[in-house]
Amino acid sequence: MREFTVTTQRRSQLVDITELVRAAAAPLDGASAALVYVPHTTAGVTINEHADPAVARDFETALERIVSEEWPWEHIEEGEENAPTHIRAAFMGSDALVPVRDGTLALGTWQGIFLCEFDGPRERTVYVTILR
Ligand code: ZN
Repeated sequence: MREFTVTTQRRSQLVDITELVRAAAAPLDGASAALVYVPHTTAGVTINEHADPAVARDFETALERIVSEEWPWEHIEEGEENAPTHIRAAFMGSDALVPVRDGTLALGTWQGIFLCEFDGPRERTVYVTILR
C-alpha cells in the first residue's frame, strides 16, 4: 500500500488528487485496479468532473446546504458541533475503486479523483492500494 498526505485550506474543500494518485499508483503494469481510500470520518473521496473547477465548488456548496449546520446536532467534538461534517463525508464515501486499462487508470475524459474535506483545514492521508 502507498500513501500520501494532502493539506486542506478550508472547512469544506474538494481537492483534485488525480495526479497524486497516478504518481502513488505507478507503475500499474499488470494491475487490475487501484483502490483509493481515506482513513478519516470527516473527509471522503469521490470521482467526478475536474475539467471545470466550478463543479468542485458546487459540491462544497450543495453539501453544506443539504446537511445544515443549524439542525439540533447531538455529537460535539472538542467543543464544536461537527456532526454535519461526518454526514457530508458519509455521502461521499471513504473509497473509490478505479479500474486499470493498458497500465493506466481508466478514468473518463472529464473524470478526476477528489479528496473531499468537510472539517478542514487539516492534513489528510490518502491510501492507494494496487489490486493485481
Ligand atoms: Zn466528530
